[in-house]
Amino acid sequence: MGPGPSDIHPRVLQAMARPTIGHLDPAFIGMMDEVKALLKYAFQTKNELTMPVSAPGSAGMETCFVNLVEPGDKVIVCINGVFGMRMKENIERFGGEAIVVADDWGTAVTPAKVEAACCAHPDAKIVAFVHAETSTGACSDAKTLCEIARKHNCISIVDAVTSLGGVELRVDDWGIDAIYSGTQKCLSCVPGISPVSFSEKALDKVRNRSSKVPSWFLDLNLVMGYWGSGAKRAYHHTAPVNTLYALHESLVMLKNEGLENAWQRHANLHQELKIGLEEIGINFVVNEAERLPQLNSVWIPEGVDDAQIRSTLLNEYNLEIGAGLGDFAGKVWRIGLMGESCKKEKVLFCVAALKAVLG
Ligand code: PLP
Repeated sequence: MGPGPSDIHPRVLQAMARPTIGHLDPAFIGMMDEVKALLKYAFQTKNELTMPVSAPGSAGMETCFVNLVEPGDKVIVCINGVFGMRMKENIERFGGEAIVVADDWGTAVTPAKVEAACCAHPDAKIVAFVHAETSTGACSDAKTLCEIARKHNCISIVDAVTSLGGVELRVDDWGIDAIYSGTQKCLSCVPGISPVSFSEKALDKVRNRSSKVPSWFLDLNLVMGYWGSGAKRAYHHTAPVNTLYALHESLVMLKNEGLENAWQRHANLHQELKIGLEEIGINFVVNEAERLPQLNSVWIPEGVDDAQIRSTLLNEYNLEIGAGLGDFAGKVWRIGLMGESCKKEKVLFCVAALKAVLG
């Protein structure tokens, strides 16, 4: 019950153990089409370019920035935790100029600050932000932030690594242009794959670049030769065949549950966890209106030894909770309720174990 990877259903693990077939085998190509359709459902999009990048969430992040940022581009980047900082790093490495909109750790991105930055930099090309900041547990208003980006003729890049499958996320209705996620959080799949989706507007920017995408592996113009539809699929790289079996299975499970039911399950069990934790005197970092149900950041009680409690939970209760990251190291625990880890019995067990170890 940490910040991911989350628990994985046996069905997903069993799917991984199926025989490995060729990545251009007709049966595999049929499954690729299903994976794309299921990802479109999970993202709530009709974007044709919706596919899994064969590498972890950070590669999904890099896919967005390396394809969309050209040297000299001004990019407004919102930083309210570790992953906004990683976005800035990407922008600068690809020759962009990062205009930072900073918010305190543990709070959502402030739309008015983004609006002000767009007005101050009318030549900005992109607005980038993290929907669900895993380092703090804050959820930003993706719909409003994308509206602001659109109003100022900017493309939006959204990090949905922790949000996909756990909270409301509607790529088309909210006008998100480029989005990436991860498999190891609320999709409860094995780590190592990053679903991405690009709107036509974002793809136009990629197609009309004046310079080559400075990464061969992540260049969408090339990747689409394998993942695109219509045209005959051609080898680009050897797909992680068994990992994609697992992703297919976890997406089928999400579809069977229903996306909105999954969002509701995360919200309901967050409420149960909250009641249990508050009863034992543990307080939340993020105010209720901006809190992610799937990533619960709580203050470590006064006088408690962070590392010792976490190792007792791990060794004596077989329970993992997350440590604080960056500015929150040693101050905060992060309790994940993601996908398969978001079950009533696990919430009750977690509260009981914490109560026992805290005495
Ligand atoms: N973005 C967010 C919000 C994350 O939580 C993570 C990982 O925890 C990443 C990006 C990077 O994903 P990965 O560790 O799979 O590369």
